[in-house]
Amino acid sequence: MTGDKKIFRVDAILELINKACDRSGRKASEVTLMAVSKTRTAEEVEAMLGCGIGVLGENRVQEGADKRGRVVAPAQWELIGPLQSNKVRQAVEHFDRVQTVDRVKLVQKLDRCVEELGHARYPVLMQVNIGADPAKHGCSEDEAPELLEAILAARHLRLDGLMTIGEYTEDERVLRRTFGGLRTLRDRLSDTHAVGLPVLSMGMSADMAIAIEEGSTLVRVGTALFGVRE
Ligand SMILES: *Cc1c(COP(=O)(O)O)cnc(C)c1O
Repeated sequence: MTGDKKIFRVDAILELINKACDRSGRKASEVTLMAVSKTRTAEEVEAMLGCGIGVLGENRVQEGADKRGRVVAPAQWELIGPLQSNKVRQAVEHFDRVQTVDRVKLVQKLDRCVEELGHARYPVLMQVNIGADPAKHGCSEDEAPELLEAILAARHLRLDGLMTIGEYTEDERVLRRTFGGLRTLRDRLSDTHAVGLPVLSMGMSADMAIAIEEGSTLVRVGTALFGVRE
C-alpha cells in the first residue's frame, strides 16, 4: 500500500519540524519523527510507513507485538509506554528499543532477558519524570544517576539517551522548563559519567515545536499525524 501523505499530514508535520529547527539554529536531520501508532490498525501503519516514516511507537507490549506480526514493511518499533516486569521478555522479543526504563529492577530484568535471548546489546532510553508529576511514570531527577549507573553496568544493554513526557498544559513556560530540564540533566549526566547520551525523546503532537527548540532529537507524534484517537 502506498501512503497518502495528505491523509496523514506527514508533509505538514515535517514542515513544522523544519521551522522549529530553523528558529533554533538546528538541522532538521537531527530530529527523528516517530509515528505513534497505538490504537491504529496494521493497515493504517502500513500506509504510514508508505509515507516514508520509519520509526513507530507503541505504548502497550501486547498490542505492539500483535501489530508488528501483521505489518510487512520494515520499520523500527519502539516501546514508549510503561513496562511491567512480567512483559520484559516479550518487549525485548518484539521491540527494537525500550524508551521507558525507569527503575533499577527493570534494568536487571532487561539485562537478563537480552542475555537469555542471545541478542546483541539492546538499546534503551531512561524515562525521567522532570518536575516529579505524580501522574507520570519515570524516575525522578534525583534517582537518575543511580539508574544511569545501573544501565551502564548492564553488560547487555546500551543507553542511547533520555525520554520525558511534557505536562498536559498549553503553558509554554512549564513545557520549556520540563524539556529544558531534560536537556540540562542529559548534559550533566553526560559530563559526570563521561558518556554520550545523544537521544532526547521529547515532544508530542501538542508540544513538539517547543520540544525541538529545547533540543529534542526524537518527537513522538500520534494525533497530529493520524488524526484523533477513538
Ligand atoms: C500517545 C503517546 C504519544 C503521542 O501522543 P499524541 O498527543 O497523540 O501525539 C507520545 N508519547 C507517549 C509516551 C504516548 O503515550
